[in-house]
Amino acid sequence: MPAETLFDLAPPPDLPVVHDTRGYAVRRIFCVGRNYAAHAAEMGNTVDRTAPFYFTKCPGALCVSGATIPYPPGTENCHYEMELVVALGASAFRVAPEAAMAAVFGYGCGIDLTRRDLQAAAKEKARPWDLGKDFENSALISALTPRADFGELGDQRIALRHDGAVVQQARLNEMIWSVPELVAHLSQFYHLGPGDLIYTGTPAGVGAVRPGSVLEGEIDGLTPVSVTIAAAA
Ligand code: MN
Repeated sequence: MPAETLFDLAPPPDLPVVHDTRGYAVRRIFCVGRNYAAHAAEMGNTVDRTAPFYFTKCPGALCVSGATIPYPPGTENCHYEMELVVALGASAFRVAPEAAMAAVFGYGCGIDLTRRDLQAAAKEKARPWDLGKDFENSALISALTPRADFGELGDQRIALRHDGAVVQQARLNEMIWSVPELVAHLSQFYHLGPGDLIYTGTPAGVGAVRPGSVLEGEIDGLTPVSVTIAAAA
């Protein structure tokens, strides 16, 4: 093994955890597609209830709540998607839904920024979504709340305000695939473990940000997530 590296890389940020001075280190980011029926409908898709599907973002796409970020490059139509984020704290491999929650460390509020024009072009050509989904500052996230402090998942309200106006609003129990079902399903394909995040999909009401946009997302019982898109230079 080499003793030195050629260059130093800035590691992805450790996520703050409420009531804890220690951070949560991120290993991987999984994202669920079409997990609210009303959002699938607004995108012109019918819901496939045979199995959930996923895309991924690299940890370098993370941006902790409270930042001002530049308008993303290469897009004319960057959308917000407010989501519950599940943070794993223990390993899970080929687990059943009944056993899946033991691997969940806690939850955060997340926004899956999406270059919708690039995603749409990829869909049309049956190409991967990476350019549309996996880019710097595209995985916004709040401080995490441990599962024990949050309690049971149920009909908590999830909402996003854009420049103060509520644009997305739903209840967590409207998710097509529940958190235990998602963890169990993903664990059939990956050795899930500490540091793995799952963005669980967005409700209806997605829309475009502009330079100067302020996004504020909240879920009952969790620390809100906020971000400002820098004004045009
Ligand atoms: Mn999403």
